[in-house]
Amino acid sequence: MSTKRKVVVVGGAVSGPAAAIAAARYSMNTKGAAEILLFERAPNIGFAVGGLSYYISREVERIDDLIVLPENVLTKKYGVKVRMGYELCSLDAEQKKVVFRKGGRRHSEEYDALVMATGARTFFPDKPSQEADNVFKFRSPADLRAVEEYLDRHKVRVVAIVGGGFFGIESAEAFRRAGFEVHLIEKTAHVLERWHDDFSVLVEQELARNGVEVQKNTVVVDSPLSSKKVRVVRLANGSKISVDLVLICAGIKPNAELLLDAGAAPGPQGTVAVDKFQLTTLADVFAAGVCTSFPHHITGKPTWCPQALIAHRMGIVAGRNAVGAECAFEGVAFGTAITRVFDAALGRTGLTEKEAAEYLGGKRKLSIVQSESTHAEPFMESARSFMARVVLEKRSGRVLGAEAWGYGGVDKFIDTMATAIAAKLSIDQMALLDLTYSPPFSPLDNIMSRLADEQVR
Ligand SMILES: Cc1cc2nc3c(=O)[nH]c(=O)nc-3n(C[C@H](O)[C@H](O)[C@H](O)COP(=O)(O)OP(=O)(O)OC[C@H]3O[C@@H](n4cnc5c(N)ncnc54)[C@H](O)[C@@H]3O)c2cc1C
Repeated sequence: MSTKRKVVVVGGAVSGPAAAIAAARYSMNTKGAAEILLFERAPNIGFAVGGLSYYISREVERIDDLIVLPENVLTKKYGVKVRMGYELCSLDAEQKKVVFRKGGRRHSEEYDALVMATGARTFFPDKPSQEADNVFKFRSPADLRAVEEYLDRHKVRVVAIVGGGFFGIESAEAFRRAGFEVHLIEKTAHVLERWHDDFSVLVEQELARNGVEVQKNTVVVDSPLSSKKVRVVRLANGSKISVDLVLICAGIKPNAELLLDAGAAPGPQGTVAVDKFQLTTLADVFAAGVCTSFPHHITGKPTWCPQALIAHRMGIVAGRNAVGAECAFEGVAFGTAITRVFDAALGRTGLTEKEAAEYLGGKRKLSIVQSESTHAEPFMESARSFMARVVLEKRSGRVLGAEAWGYGGVDKFIDTMATAIAAKLSIDQMALLDLTYSPPFSPLDNIMSRLADEQVR
């Protein structure tokens, strides 16, 4: 009988491979013996989901270029046994046994530790019908190939995108860059509903400036099928759009049902709750990535943060712990995110104003500072506009959250603010930090010092 610790990882996109590699590295470094198996239901693993749109806009040459972690790296370099085309269908946490389906056959596997990295799936609104041949989701290489095949075989001029969140905006930009007429349909009053309106308005303006038609405060109410295709979508606001292709970007749902059915404690929004070791409430069952919610760094409350970098880091922690490490994940759930909107960028981190007010027990305990400036010294011809809004605890000036929009420097600002949140720094401390300066990169009176000056004490 093998004495190796057997770790089964389920899910092969971002957090699963990160977990498998981390488990392999940790056991190699500690000279522990582990057998690591990675199961994925799709025919591919290690895919950069975030890159899908950039293939549409032709900024990525081949779909296969998006495979950032090929199977042979896992097998040859790390000795991970990769099993593709296996769908997990049941989990018995007491017997420590999982059962997969492959084709018509069943395959069972026992484990010493299990890492569930099953991610999330596209949420489909009632309309338009997902049965239509020209209605697509956008979450996997298979989805991208299906879109490409349709574009190759049909004359497509008009694309409607349902959902004005990050993925909807990214996709709208990609299809527009590729020369399509693009309509973006958003249910709420503004795109990016989690953002302060000032930023959503700037995004809407940038989309409009680049020819994307944005319809807000409305939903698809009718989308009749003709020869299995949606030709027209009718919106609740009375407008009617003739379409050739529809992309659904209306949100995602965590794939946590198997864990919850097996008795794991739930988190918010259909996720499974994990602790800072990525452990569920089931013995030796870890979970990582977008099927999980994690204690928020500031509030301590379980929070769902469906972002790639966090999913990857959670995978590392889960993988190490599955082979006996005691690795804790401290800095998660800021909701740090960035997206490009044509020439501009939009980024955020930490708590929104509403979340911060709930956390501190009232709006009056907050100080909100906003500043508009340029990303470089204003005397530089290259200087472009930059706007930031930061949520502070009034009493201490501690940074709780930040949003930024601009044509340069947004990533730098947001990463710096995420670091400030992790280190519990105040905006005054940020303003006095020794940061980079040179006219093409930032003004001497940089955004941190401007924001510090804006505080109402
Ligand atoms: C179009 C798009 C763009 C994005 N852009 C960004 C970005 O720019 N920045 C960012 O931070 N995030 C981005 N994201 C989000 C990010 O990609 C996800 O957070 C990340 O993919 C999560 O990784 P994951 O491994 O947890 O889950 P997933 O990527 O959802 O992968 C889960 C895997 O598990 C498999 N699986 C599920 N159930 C089973 C089962 N029962 N048996 C076997 N296998 C199973 C699935 O097939 C899948 O491969 C984007 C997402 C999309 C869709």
